[in-house]
Amino acid sequence: MAIQWYPGHMHKAKKAITERLKSVDMVIEVLDARLPASSENPLLAKLSADKPKLKILNKQDLADAERTETWLAEFQSRANTNAIALDASDRSAAAKMIEACRKLVPHRKGIDKPLRVLICGIPNVGKSTLINGMLGKKSAKTGNEPGITKAEQRLFLADDFWLYDTPGMLWPKIIVEESGYNLAASGAVGRNALDEEVVALELLDYLRRHYLPQLQARYQADKDASSHWRDDEWLEWIGKKRGALLPGGRINHQKAAENTLTDFRDGQIGRITLETPHQWEIWLKKARQN
Ligand code: GDP
Repeated sequence: MAIQWYPGHMHKAKKAITERLKSVDMVIEVLDARLPASSENPLLAKLSADKPKLKILNKQDLADAERTETWLAEFQSRANTNAIALDASDRSAAAKMIEACRKLVPHRKGIDKPLRVLICGIPNVGKSTLINGMLGKKSAKTGNEPGITKAEQRLFLADDFWLYDTPGMLWPKIIVEESGYNLAASGAVGRNALDEEVVALELLDYLRRHYLPQLQARYQADKDASSHWRDDEWLEWIGKKRGALLPGGRINHQKAAENTLTDFRDGQIGRITLETPHQWEIWLKKARQN
């Protein structure tokens, strides 16, 4: 897989996070609700093993609600861990996040210390949007390109609640092949990290097996005829429907792939989650055997 890694950044982030963890009470990890396991960072799990953790399944508005419930239950079953689902643009997101933190680390009577919280997340999961929502003004930079949150920031939200932004960048760590594709489909690993046509074909292969009705509805495909289409036949069809054509009328596969990925990222195909806890277990097992 041709994903670009930045070992230097990773090393720096690891050192800075280790240092910061010494002075916080708990850790928030923001995840993408469409790919909760793939967007989790195993390094962070290792470094913060002894801290209470809040997993935020963000972008829940784009994710499959039923699967989100399954993932929340999965995370909540872990020791010292709470999990909530959010849509970062929702006005109540910040309040929900603070409330969940307080539940996890209740205020100790007689101890007048603020709750110190480190917020982490791989690029593009919506961390800056969440922080901005908490601050109530545009302060953390947000953008569509991965990795825009750079410098360490300590954000005093209240006398009794201190939020620390991740020092350095937390890059995703790909431990199963499927998560590389899922991260690429979500936009987390940036354009050009993987061939878009390959990513779109993998996505279509998953969608045709798990979200066929949504795929058929979005691209107005005949239900019977399309029920057995392969991923490449779907890409052809989407190219045709979206007018991704080369001179002479042949399908422009690159353009069709871009259209597919944009539709998925914008929620145009429906509310979709690319992995379940059960599927993740199977992928992990397969990866360990290889
Ligand atoms: P960061 O790299 O984790 O700081 O991510 P950003 O906050 O910059 O968000 C990345 C993109 O996702 C932006 O285009 C946001 O508008 C979008 N986004 C963030 N949170 C949500 C959410 O809950 N739902 C939806 N639909 N989009 C979101």
